[in-house]
Order: sequence, then C-alpha cells, then structure tokens
Amino acid sequence: MKKHLLVANWKLNGSIKMISQYIKCVKSCLSVLSKKNIIVIAPPTIYLSEIYKNLNNIDIFLGAQNVDINLKGAFTGETSILMLRDIGVKYVIIGHSERRLLHNETNDILVKKFDLIKKLNLIPILCIGEIEKNKNYNQTTKILIEQLNCMFQVLGKSVFRNTVIAYEPIWAIGTGLSADPKYVQFIHKFIKDYIAQHDPTSIKNIIVQYGGSINAINAEEFIKEPDIDGLLIGSASLDSKEFCKIIAIAE
Ligand code: 13P
Repeated sequence: MKKHLLVANWKLNGSIKMISQYIKCVKSCLSVLSKKNIIVIAPPTIYLSEIYKNLNNIDIFLGAQNVDINLKGAFTGETSILMLRDIGVKYVIIGHSERRLLHNETNDILVKKFDLIKKLNLIPILCIGEIEKNKNYNQTTKILIEQLNCMFQVLGKSVFRNTVIAYEPIWAIGTGLSADPKYVQFIHKFIKDYIAQHDPTSIKNIIVQYGGSINAINAEEFIKEPDIDGLLIGSASLDSKEFCKIIAIAE
C-alpha cells in the first residue's frame, strides 16, 4: 500500500491524563510497523506542548487545529503561527467546517492563514466540503471549486504545492455515516485534476485526504482507493487503540 497521511483531530477533547497513555499506545503500535505513513496528532492548542514533550523525537508530528492571521500583538485569546512553530507544530488545520460555521472563518481569512502557514514553512491542511443539500442538488464540485478558487485568485496557480487538502463532506462529519469510498475517490480525482489544470507540478506533492466518520471498520475501504492519500479522523481518533488499528490498516 502507498504512503498515507493519518491525522487525529481531537477537536475540543482530551486531557493531561489522556496524553501519556495515548502517546505510549501510538509509539508501541508504530514500533512494529514500517513507519512509511505520516502520523499527526492535532489536539487542542493548550495540549500541544505536553504532547510534544511526550513524543520525545519519535516519528509522530504535531498538528494545530487553528491559527490566527496575526503574528503578534494585541489579539487577546489568539495563537500565532510563530508560536505554533516554536513549540514544534508542523501541520495546521484550517477551514474546518466547524470553524467555518461556528467561528466565521471566511474564505478571505483562510487565504491569509494559508499564506502565512506556507511562508513560515509549516504545512496547511485546508478542509473543504459541501453540505448535504449541495450534494443532493449535484452542486458538490461547484462548491469545491469556489473553495479552491479563492486560493488560486489571491495566491496564484502554484498555491497548492506541498500542501494538504482534506475533503470533508459536512454531512458525513460526526454522523456515523461516512461517504461512499467510490464517491470520495471520484471527488479526490476531481480535486487533483482541477488543481493540475492550474499547475501540473502541484499534483506531484499534494496530499488529498478524506474526513467524515472514519473508524477502524471502514478505514480500509477508503485507503484502498488510489486518490485517497490519507484520513482526517475525528471521534475515532480519541480512542488510542482505535487510532492505532487505523494506522495498522494503512500499512
Ligand atoms: P468524525 O471522524 O468525528 O466524523 O470527524 C471528522 C472530522 O471532522 C475530522 O476533522
């Protein structure tokens, strides 16, 4: 099987108590595997440092769930990309539907975040996806194009080089109803082809991963598909044993 990017998005969950046991479990699972896959843990910001300490330089990367558009200054409650980089973060998730819907994360804001993350040599994971109504009215590709175009228009044709796109159909998130793997394969191919029309080089190093009700039972059906390069896992990633099962399946 090819290399996959497996990201545990803890969302607003976790505790200090959970961290040491969780990392121990993932480390021991990785110790018997080939380590070809890229494993990322994205806890709430407050736990990033604690996880970093527990990782002890082993091959698990740190991901943040959000970042501010400012580097420093009078922005109470925010975290900057410099701070994330300072504590060892490598990946930053932006544009998650929960942030778009509940925290007013607009395309304009996302363009700024995407640009800043790349400029500071971290890797953005840009979430895109449609609501159920869009899917039912065959508007999925139109919505995805809009979400990709905002980046092309401001940041240029090669904007997606060395980045990650997470296709997360909103109707599949947290519902227990994952999308059909063949449907996801079709959409991922569409995303890659659309990006290639702008910049064929991007396709050599872009990762398109899927998120939405992934678990240890359905993961294999997704990673078998040629254009599903990884998984962004929510609730199933909170259980270290289940996350490890998914890592083992992707071997
Ligand atoms: P669930 O796996 O809980 O559906 O969440 C998916 C997700 O939003 C990952 O970012």
